[in-house]
Amino acid sequence: MIKSIIHYAHHLMKEAVNQGDTVIDATCGNGHDTLFLSRLVGENGHVFGFDIQEQAIANTRYRLDQNNRKNTTIVKDSHSNFIHHIPVDKLTRLGGAIFNLGYLPGSNKTVITKSETTILAIEGILSHLKQNGIIVLVVYYGHDGGVQEREQLMRYVQLLDQKLYHVLYYGFINQKNDPPFILAIQKKD
Ligand code: SAM
Repeated sequence: MIKSIIHYAHHLMKEAVNQGDTVIDATCGNGHDTLFLSRLVGENGHVFGFDIQEQAIANTRYRLDQNNRKNTTIVKDSHSNFIHHIPVDKLTRLGGAIFNLGYLPGSNKTVITKSETTILAIEGILSHLKQNGIIVLVVYYGHDGGVQEREQLMRYVQLLDQKLYHVLYYGFINQKNDPPFILAIQKKD
């Protein structure tokens, strides 16, 4: 069966990430991906989650508490500053990262991800990612500012060196109303 966007994003993470790895949820939002990643890496792994909105941080911490997850650190800061929050011993085990671009579901859509910080974060994460590690981006672009971020991001990923990275595009080309799509970047070994 063809997988939905969310299922395929999680499938890619499952394939690339191992138990015990460090992973990043670059846009916690309501914490759905953070919880998924926390289970994926197991008790010996660790999830670092980032969001710039207090509401998102609170929602994510609540979801993790409700599910009794202990292997997470949730930080109110931009994902572009991730390097300041992850200890070196955990950074060397970085197996993957996930981004859900756009605005916090249920919020007023004024706080959105922006290409400058998104690309800065991707660049930094790529330089620390393990061989075969992966970055999965779920690109929502139907809101104000979304098309601009999509265009800048497409330009950036299309220029990544094919000797070093696999870059994948996955999306449903017959869906209406600006459907989200996936970009995934895997570091070759
Ligand atoms: N994955 C989330 C979930 O499961 O609910 C949804 C994420 S939502 C589409 C995007 C989130 O990115 C928003 O909560 C927003 O506050 C956050 N965001 C925007 N700019 C950011 C930045 N520079 N660093 C970290 N988070 C950011």
